[in-house]
Amino acid sequence: MKIGIPKEIHQGERRVASTPEVVAKLSKLGFSVAVEAGAGAAASYTDDAYAAAGCEIVGSANDLWAQSDVVLKIRAPEGDEVKRLKSGQTLISFLWPAQNPDLLKNLTDRGITAIAMDCIPRISRAQKMDALSSMSNISGYRAIVEAAEHFGRFFTGQITAAGKVQPAKVLVIGAGVAGLAAIGTARGMGAIVRSFDTRPEVKEQIESMDAQFLMLDFKDENGTGEGGYAKVMSDEFIKAEMALFAEQAADVDIIVTTALIPGKPAPRLITAEMIKSMKAGSVVVDLAAEQGGNCELTEPGKVVVKHGVSIIGYTDIPSRMATQSSQLYSNNLYNLITDMTPGKNGEILIDMDDEVIRGATVCTGGKTTWPPPAPKLS
Ligand code: NAD
Repeated sequence: MKIGIPKEIHQGERRVASTPEVVAKLSKLGFSVAVEAGAGAAASYTDDAYAAAGCEIVGSANDLWAQSDVVLKIRAPEGDEVKRLKSGQTLISFLWPAQNPDLLKNLTDRGITAIAMDCIPRISRAQKMDALSSMSNISGYRAIVEAAEHFGRFFTGQITAAGKVQPAKVLVIGAGVAGLAAIGTARGMGAIVRSFDTRPEVKEQIESMDAQFLMLDFKDENGTGEGGYAKVMSDEFIKAEMALFAEQAADVDIIVTTALIPGKPAPRLITAEMIKSMKAGSVVVDLAAEQGGNCELTEPGKVVVKHGVSIIGYTDIPSRMATQSSQLYSNNLYNLITDMTPGKNGEILIDMDDEVIRGATVCTGGKTTWPPPAPKLS
């Protein structure tokens, strides 16, 4: 089978679905691989590097899509990309079927087998394919880099001949994959870090990085929902949590918000009043900007300064570290494709009895297969 890697067309997207290193490994699995000319350029992967890895370089996007049995992408197909898909092809990319019902119908009607990287079940066996986690890890790290760029001070405390410098104080709201990466990065840079999450089990993880877990005395309510994910909290809980953030906002220099609940809009946790109470020159990075934002003054895709506070609402954070993101994403893809190629003969197999493949396959053979059946309780 032939695997094709097109250049991403979404505005501002710099990642590429496969690096030259992974292309070479896919060839060893028996596939022939083609890449659209320039597909990796924005992520620092040159056509020459792909060619050296044994990859065919194809000049036109139409030709690349037409000759591929399997298309590997980062973003869900859009515009002309959807029209280029043809019956029998397999597409593997982020797809977000809940948010894109029209795309899902279109893919189904076109007879595509579509595998959504955002639907890989988050079970231990599938961690190596978990692109949501690999991208969240990068987002958490980059959130701190972005904060540092807009913050006019050191993170670490210093005693210098020119005077004593206090360490910066960072509050991280939500300690999932991105939040924990942000905590680790800010600690590494020497900041004092505090964090809050509705799931109390993250306390240990936060403390293991020498950060402080902010406790809320709410014994009857625990934020851990199905499968270990967050659930929607009561109004009382959110009120108490926001009172805690109102106190913290006046004290900290940087707030990174990462609070999300699967399938729901992001909870609004940081108000304009809290922003007003922050010191001039403070920074808020809202990693939930794409899902509506945790801060009410966030403008998705932009950096705005309100009441002297920079509020960063970028929605393309992993793409801002395109070389790293492409490397980890293509490793996730490679691990998935390896499991789908049991014969190592360049032929993928859509095994709907495999829990991971079943969970991620959103349509095949003209039928929509999303959402998958609930996992069996053992
Ligand atoms: P996420 O991006 O969906 O949410 C980010 C965080 O926001 C979560 O920790 C959530 O509890 C928190 N949150 C939600 N509402 C909040 C509120 N009102 N206030 C404060 N915080 C709030 O989460 P994620 O990073 O995708 O990970 C969530 C869970 O999934 C974690 O337990 C993680 O360990 C687990 N996980 C498991 C696997 C695996 O087993 N393969 C892989 C990845 C993640």
